Amino acid sequence: MRISDVKRAARFATDCVVGDICVLCQLPLTPYRWHDPLALNSHICPYCRTAVALNPNSCQHCARPLPDGQRICGRCITAPLVDMALAPVLHQHCGAYLVHQLKFHRGEREASALASFLLAAVHQRYPNTNALPDLLIPVPIAPWTQLRRGYNPSDWLARPLQQQLKVAVANDLLTRKSGPSQRSLTRQQRLRLATNTFTLKSKVAPRVLDLRHVAIIDDVLTTGATVAVLAGTLRRAGAARVDIWCATRA
Ligand SMILES: [Zn+2]
Ligand SMILES: [Zn+2]
Repeated sequence: MRISDVKRAARFATDCVVGDICVLCQLPLTPYRWHDPLALNSHICPYCRTAVALNPNSCQHCARPLPDGQRICGRCITAPLVDMALAPVLHQHCGAYLVHQLKFHRGEREASALASFLLAAVHQRYPNTNALPDLLIPVPIAPWTQLRRGYNPSDWLARPLQQQLKVAVANDLLTRKSGPSQRSLTRQQRLRLATNTFTLKSKVAPRVLDLRHVAIIDDVLTTGATVAVLAGTLRRAGAARVDIWCATRA
C-alpha cells in the first residue's frame, strides 16, 4: 500500500467523523455549506479562498500576469499562444500547493478546489453558454506516467468543469510520446523536445475536430511550450479555435 493510499484512507475516515474539511486549513467545512455560489463542492473554505493569490489582469492569449490596463503581452502581439487563455490562480504559495497535491498526492479534492477558480474565470470571460467550447481536452500524459500515477491530473480538473458547464471531455483523442521530465528545462529546450509530442490516435474518427472550438485543460502553464505544440496539433487536425484553461500560471 502506498503512502498516498494511506492518506486517502485517513481522509475518508476524517470525513466520516467530522465531515468534509478544507483542503488548505483542514478545518471542517460544515459551517460554510450555504456559502457555495458556484454550486460546486470545491472543498475550500471562504477564508482560504481569499488567501489564494489570483491572476486577475493577464494576457488574453497566454495568461501571463500583466500590469493594469495592458491586455496582450509583447510576445503574443506577434505570435499569440492560443485564442483565449485562462489561468485564474498564480502558481505560488496556496496555488502551487494545490497543484502539487493534485499531481503527486492524488488530490481529487484539490482538483475540485482549482476547478472552482477556473469555473469562476469561465463565467467571467465567456459571455454566455453559446460561446463555450464544444470540447474540453485534458493535456494527455505519457502512457508510462499514466501507468505509474494511475490518473491524469488534467482529466481530474476537467471532470467538475464538464459537470457544471455540460461541455464534453475528450480524453481519448491523442497520445503523448514519452520523454524526460520538463521541469528543469528552458523554454527553448522544451520547444525543441516537444516537437511531434502529440499525435491523433489512429482509431479517432476523421474530421472529429473539424471547425470545432476546443479548450485545452492543464494544471500549470509555465513556458507555454507544451500548449503551443498541442494547439498546433489540434489546429492541423481541423480545430477552428483553441483556448487554454489552466488552473495556475507560473
Ligand atoms: Zn480553509
Ligand atoms: Zn501573451
